[in-house]
Amino acid sequence: MHGPSESFPLDESALGLLLEGPPRDDAGRIREILARARGLDGLDEADLPSLMALRDPALLAELFEAAKAVKEEIYGRRIVLFAPLYVSNLCGNECLYCAFRASNRELPRRALSQAEIAGEVRHLLRQGHKRVVLVAGEAYPQEGLDYVLKAVRTVYATREGAESIRRVNVNIAPLDVDGFRRLRDVEIGTYQLFQETYHRGTYARMHPAGLKADFDWRLGCMDRAMLAGIDDVGIGALFGLHDWRFELLAILRHARHLEARFGCGPHTISVPRIEPAAGSAASEAPPSAVTDADFRKLVAILRLAVPYTGLILSTRERPEIRREVFHLGISQISAGSRTNPGGYQAEDGTSAQFSLGDHRGLDEVVRDLAETGFIPSFCTSCYRMGRTGADFMDLAKPGEIKLHCEPNALSTLQEFAEDHAGPATRQAAEALVAASLAGMEEGARTRAEAMVARVRRGERDVFC
Ligand code: SF4
Ligand code: SF4
Repeated sequence: MHGPSESFPLDESALGLLLEGPPRDDAGRIREILARARGLDGLDEADLPSLMALRDPALLAELFEAAKAVKEEIYGRRIVLFAPLYVSNLCGNECLYCAFRASNRELPRRALSQAEIAGEVRHLLRQGHKRVVLVAGEAYPQEGLDYVLKAVRTVYATREGAESIRRVNVNIAPLDVDGFRRLRDVEIGTYQLFQETYHRGTYARMHPAGLKADFDWRLGCMDRAMLAGIDDVGIGALFGLHDWRFELLAILRHARHLEARFGCGPHTISVPRIEPAAGSAASEAPPSAVTDADFRKLVAILRLAVPYTGLILSTRERPEIRREVFHLGISQISAGSRTNPGGYQAEDGTSAQFSLGDHRGLDEVVRDLAETGFIPSFCTSCYRMGRTGADFMDLAKPGEIKLHCEPNALSTLQEFAEDHAGPATRQAAEALVAASLAGMEEGARTRAEAMVARVRRGERDVFC
């Protein structure tokens, strides 16, 4: 049914064999892997089993140190912020872990009108957001894909005073190549889709009915998106459905496949952990729950394995865990999220997709990041400067993207501080901007100072 040119061949038994072999967990071997990873060349999949099996506290500390060093080398201290924008919870699928599944009759269903979407966007703009990921279940109102395309245009066109959303990423069900071309033409940023689990048997059990039951159609989705000319794609797995070690190997293989075929791997990898969802038993007792200790390890290993790929964490995680994994490699987070359509205006969580671990608003998250020394960033510059796909990777690989990330983080943080922050957050943000400028090397500081000064003089949307 699906042409080979649109597929990603995943050899499940080869991944299983890698996990079955005895991990070479001697200290010498681990240190050799970590030294190589610090060179920013990524890791081979044969390196992963040893790191995944690590238990020794001293070697684990070395793993975390290496992940932190790689993150700071490539991205600096910035953490990019975004908000999910759920436009519809209509869905024809039966994912056992999700409250939106078709047979959950308890859930109030709605697809927002374009006017309602604009209302949600204005709410996000008043909070200070500049970047959203638009999310919909897999059943659109009668217009089909046109509904989503209109929604993307609505988001870009909505204004609150002079402010607008500067980048719309999209997380919707897989399309064919023509569908992806239409999505590309409305100028989305990244197209995101998670395989949920790369293990075929677990996938079949978790997705018993609906279009999503077709494992291969989902697996080949990013090939189709990139064939259609979408440069930036985001992959991921829902951790907790199957052995996290298998998922990590499969994610790495997926990334390498895209890189080999299209000259550019995924722009982002997301690491959601399964969370309780109303009326969904599999979410209450995840089949392969990932402990906090393993979660820290998996983030650190991913950071080393694919150093140039953004790592995204959602508000599913509690603030304590979020803070810990920022150090280990996370580069983007959602903040102040609602996962029910219309949730920003209604403040009602009764039709949410899953429970959130972090309920704090954007202002509080920004303050917390600033006080812990991370630079909260609302930057959307790369996509708007045409630094996408392979062009982005060409900058990221020699470590040059940081020269853009940090000044942009500071100018957008200054903008947030002046336009949206409460008094305590403004104080923390401005102190961080000043300290960060003072700590920069001269060339970078001159450029960043000039950008921040333009914002202080009233200019907005200053980026490089
Ligand atoms: Fe539908 Fe997505 Fe939920 Fe599955 S995870 S039931 S496809 S909204
Ligand atoms: Fe992201 Fe590019 Fe901005 Fe860095 S400069 S935060 S990579 S958009």
